[in-house]
Amino acid sequence: MKNDCLFCAIAAGEIPSNKVYEDDLCYAFYDIAPQAPTHFLVIPKEHIGSVAEIGAENSAVVAHIFEVIAKLTKELGLESYRVVSNIGEQAGQSVHHLHFHVLSGRDMTWPPG
Ligand code: 5GP
Ligand code: ZN
Repeated sequence: MKNDCLFCAIAAGEIPSNKVYEDDLCYAFYDIAPQAPTHFLVIPKEHIGSVAEIGAENSAVVAHIFEVIAKLTKELGLESYRVVSNIGEQAGQSVHHLHFHVLSGRDMTWPPG
């Protein structure tokens, strides 16, 4: 757990969140400022700064997170959704702990803004 990391604190239960799912490796919770009718985040419990910090030593948790996303979206009855991860300031990353946004329930445009 990294000091002063908001999502490390949320994963540890030190800051409350609206939980969707949890297991040993990851934590899923609803976004505080939803950008779609359904908008939740899936994060690894271990601190990884962003996609830019994924390597052979920690990539297994990313595969696991995508399995969890496939499972949760099925359970929630979401047939169409978007998975997004922002990396760096220009792409709009505001929390520096790896997270995958899962957005669903409205028409979406491509390319994204
Ligand atoms: P980013 O901007 O880094 O791609 O995504 C960070 C996301 O975290 C944003 O969508 C923002 O609304 C969400 N967020 C920021 N602080 C909190 C919080 O304290 N609780 C929850 N549930 N979501 C948060
Ligand atoms: Zn963290």
